Amino acid sequence: MSASTSIRAAVMPAPDAPIEVRTFDRPRLEPGAILLETIYSEVCGTDVHLHHGHLAGVPYPLIPGHVSVGRVAETGGEVLDLDGLPLRTGDVITFLDVHETCGKCWYCTVAKASTRCPSRRVYGITYSADEGLLGGWAEAIYLKPGVKTLRLPPNLPPERFIAAGCGLPTSVHAIERAEIKLGDNVVIQGSGPVGLNAVALAQLQGAGQVIVVGAPALRLEMATAMGADEIVDITQYAPAERVQRVKDLTGGRGADVTIEATGVPAAVREGMQMTRDAGRYVVVGQYTDVGEVEINPHWDLNRKHLEVRGCWGSDFSHFYRGVRVLARYGDRFAWDRMISAEYSLNQAGQALDDVAQLKVIKALIKP
Ligand SMILES: [Zn+2]
Ligand SMILES: [Zn+2]
Repeated sequence: MSASTSIRAAVMPAPDAPIEVRTFDRPRLEPGAILLETIYSEVCGTDVHLHHGHLAGVPYPLIPGHVSVGRVAETGGEVLDLDGLPLRTGDVITFLDVHETCGKCWYCTVAKASTRCPSRRVYGITYSADEGLLGGWAEAIYLKPGVKTLRLPPNLPPERFIAAGCGLPTSVHAIERAEIKLGDNVVIQGSGPVGLNAVALAQLQGAGQVIVVGAPALRLEMATAMGADEIVDITQYAPAERVQRVKDLTGGRGADVTIEATGVPAAVREGMQMTRDAGRYVVVGQYTDVGEVEINPHWDLNRKHLEVRGCWGSDFSHFYRGVRVLARYGDRFAWDRMISAEYSLNQAGQALDDVAQLKVIKALIKP
């Protein structure tokens, strides 16, 4: 990219409109900013939702791609990483897609839930392409001053980082919310990237058994490769049979902890029923509004003495911990096998279709 004055990016012009490759001027860096030459960005379920206009407050046109890894091409003066070390041209870094959380509002200071900060903006989701190269499906990404960067440790190749992708920090957050105890029976509903990452993390938390409820076969094979002990294929069992299957695998009681990572509202009631009385249920998969579900508050909640926790987004701590886990345990789990396909910028529309149709586990954009 060194000498070029223009940068290509794949742009989502509006909901349901075809992806276009557009050319942008190489930006002039303000002090503290970084121009990152993209190595990989990813295509995740959120991008499919964005393409269908399912997420509120999205300023189309936008350059999608919220989790990316790249090489520092240029910095606006000296820019330090989290450890206080200056970033140099050629350093391989990633960055937290969430930016501009204020640290001053009620949510940031009192609730200590920065993911609910109203000032929060997200690369590839709530920044518009009209504001610049603020998404990963591009030859380069403009990191505004103050974007939280993280250098990849030498034993963590960019391929492995992006294979775990944005599912990893989300799943680190969900695992924290789940408070798994040593030996617990854990059910993970959903075998997409969040669920698959959670399979590995649940084992690291000491789960006694990890049961994955999901589909299709390609993803369930991946769940087994990640170390799941039992698989419940939702195409083979009716909803009531799935609940029974989980009970049969857990001494008749149900899971101590269930993590929902499906994106399907109907899965929520089912997951409550798969969880034992006085167990815990974490809902992380309902990131966008895809509909309602009916529950029976007596049987599903009150009499069950069930604890239900929502889990929205992730912050830098989850991102940081995810990178540490990948660097330390990357060889123990099958993360490298999660990548099924690489796409160029011109093929970004195809990548979205393949993710939407669950043809691939993880699709990468390699600009
Ligand atoms: Zn994502
Ligand atoms: Zn705030």
